[in-house]
Amino acid sequence: MTALYQVHGDVATITLNNPPVNGLGLATRLAITDGLALANADSAVKAVVLTGAGKAFSGGADIKEFGSPTATQEPNLLSVILALENSAKPVVAALHSVAMGGGLELALGCHYRIAAPGCSVALPEVKLGLIPGAGGTQRLPRVLGVEAALNMIVSGEPVKSELLAQLPGQKLFDKMAASAESLMQEALDLARAMADVRPLPLVRNLPCKHPLGDAYFQFARNMVKGMSKNYPAPGKCVDAVQAATKQKFDAGMVFERETFINLMWTPECRALRHLFMAERAASKVPDVPSDTVQRPIQSVAIIGAGTMGGGIAMNFLNAGIAVKMLEMKQEALDRGLATIRKNYESQVKKGKLKQDKYEQRMSLLTTTLSYDELKDADMVIEAVFEEMGVKQAVFKELDRVMKPGAILASNTSTLDLNTIASFTARPQDVIGMHFFSPANVMKLLEVVRGEKTAKDVLATVMGLAKKIKKTAVVSGVCDGFIGNRMIEQYGRQGGFLLDEGCTPQQVDRAVEKFGFAMGPFRMGDLAGNDIGWAIRKRRYLEKPDMKYSKTADLLCEKGRYGQKTGAGWYDYQAGKREPIPNAEVVQMIEAHRASLGITPRKISDEEIVQRLVFSLVNEAAHLLEEGIAARAGDIDMVYLTGYGFPIWRGGPMNYANEVGLFNVVQAMNRFARNPLDDAKFWQPAPLLARLAAQGKTFS
Ligand code: NAD
Repeated sequence: MTALYQVHGDVATITLNNPPVNGLGLATRLAITDGLALANADSAVKAVVLTGAGKAFSGGADIKEFGSPTATQEPNLLSVILALENSAKPVVAALHSVAMGGGLELALGCHYRIAAPGCSVALPEVKLGLIPGAGGTQRLPRVLGVEAALNMIVSGEPVKSELLAQLPGQKLFDKMAASAESLMQEALDLARAMADVRPLPLVRNLPCKHPLGDAYFQFARNMVKGMSKNYPAPGKCVDAVQAATKQKFDAGMVFERETFINLMWTPECRALRHLFMAERAASKVPDVPSDTVQRPIQSVAIIGAGTMGGGIAMNFLNAGIAVKMLEMKQEALDRGLATIRKNYESQVKKGKLKQDKYEQRMSLLTTTLSYDELKDADMVIEAVFEEMGVKQAVFKELDRVMKPGAILASNTSTLDLNTIASFTARPQDVIGMHFFSPANVMKLLEVVRGEKTAKDVLATVMGLAKKIKKTAVVSGVCDGFIGNRMIEQYGRQGGFLLDEGCTPQQVDRAVEKFGFAMGPFRMGDLAGNDIGWAIRKRRYLEKPDMKYSKTADLLCEKGRYGQKTGAGWYDYQAGKREPIPNAEVVQMIEAHRASLGITPRKISDEEIVQRLVFSLVNEAAHLLEEGIAARAGDIDMVYLTGYGFPIWRGGPMNYANEVGLFNVVQAMNRFARNPLDDAKFWQPAPLLARLAAQGKTFS
């Protein structure tokens, strides 16, 4: 049963029971209206209490129902709320733990509300590119006042019940329960006390005004301007709450409904909903059951205290997991330790970390020069130099000392994980954990599944990723894994664009206008142009006929590696990250172009963006077909959390779906005819060609 109906003398209770958060799917909605009908038909019952079992009153819509026809099937949420309002017997909502979205709207349809302290109350629809769609924008201002309600609706952020209860004049809660334990008894008492009071109070009948009238809403619009730049929903939240102050309740409801439905059809809303689902899907591995028993991880060893090792260590310390770092020399350990301290101290200075928390974290960190001291760790992550010989020596040592069942992870970004695993007698325990730099900041973690990686090892690392607050995406073994294999093609296009007539600024500007956090040349300067240089040297030994622009090599030959050398595609002032265009670099590009006999042409921003983004999409289609990535949504998560792809576009694959795969292929065919580009690369990946021909999308 998705809701339990019980009678306690003269009061009936309807207890939502749809774990984990009592989502309001069709069965739950039906159970509520059925319970109400029973209560109203039973002459012994004088009042009703509506509450939720387990960990929530209700978290709102049932995500399992997202996009399915049952989501709007009657009784839809609006009809359930109407049934509550029209109940002849008073209904008391007893809120605890979580009352969000549709759950809060449901409570606002009840005659009375009582809340336990600590209940998180929110209307988070704006985070999915929507406004509340079941009366939230019309009822919440009536009980909280316009300003508090608008703040909650525009931010989507939860506020604790005890704080809301302190707002002067609030009518959201008729009573605060003393505790979560006493909530039900107090709700039953309230129901009994109100059983005979008539008329029944309805939120819709309360007045809704702001003393400043339209001026206030103008201020509010100015306030949300920044956040509305790429998203229509925040501005529409203001419109809907303003409608509550200007129109009769029912007209306001119509306005809310129309606005909600219009927003549903915006690309931004589709992108945000896609991400919501993609994020949840990415944490699941198709052939690894969710109940796979995970290995306990209480302590982690890290080999190498350099750039990555230090950042990786911080993730575990932040999560309260003990870390032991190993290096070859004491100086290297001291340096690594000092960097970690410096990072934490800067957080303390900025007020982002309390001193005692900092000390607590540092107390979990120990160091060693001896492999034998790692034998008790549940897991080890290797972050040493990117050379197979070095990895081999390290993994042989790890195989010798680590206890049976310990997980052996490598942070390699380019080397073959299966080869690394073969250096041990336990390849089933070996896995890749590809963190991104700075590892203590970047959300993305590519979890690299080797040929022999055991399912429980994969399940454990996916679980651990959640604990250290990373977005984990599983990748198969290939050069560059998901993210970097795609970015190589993007970088190659960037080079062709320079050869054909662009400047780095023009390309970066176009891509940043599209919404990327950073264009490809600024990104190269941040990551270090020498990294790509090293990859190209290797790549063009393997594939000498692969076309690419030599400009980036020329740049590196000048020692312009990027921010770390103060000069790359741009110049940088010491300690600053703002790119300053450099005339010599432009001359270098022009000279190279001339040496190739190319007459520069003006390239539109649209062409720049399409060539760069579709190069990601085509490579991604190959990754999907090869089974390196399991789902298009996983690829989107990689790009959104690791590469600064604009969130409101939902990732490269979602963007391609929005453009239409037919149109993507058409554009690629055009690019293939450009003699200065790589016609072979622009051959649509078979999967992309097939989907485009069938009029389908990546989802
Ligand atoms: P780094 O040079 O900053 O650090 C490597 C550290 O490993 C050094 O402190 C070195 O002393 C130590 N080391 C080397 N050999 C060792 C050994 N045999 N035993 C113990 N310690 C040893 O390098 P990094 O940038 O931290 O990269 C480390 C790994 O992470 C590489 O595999 C790299 O490909 C990968 N990675 C790097 C980045 C990045 O952006 N830097 C991103 C993702 C992954």
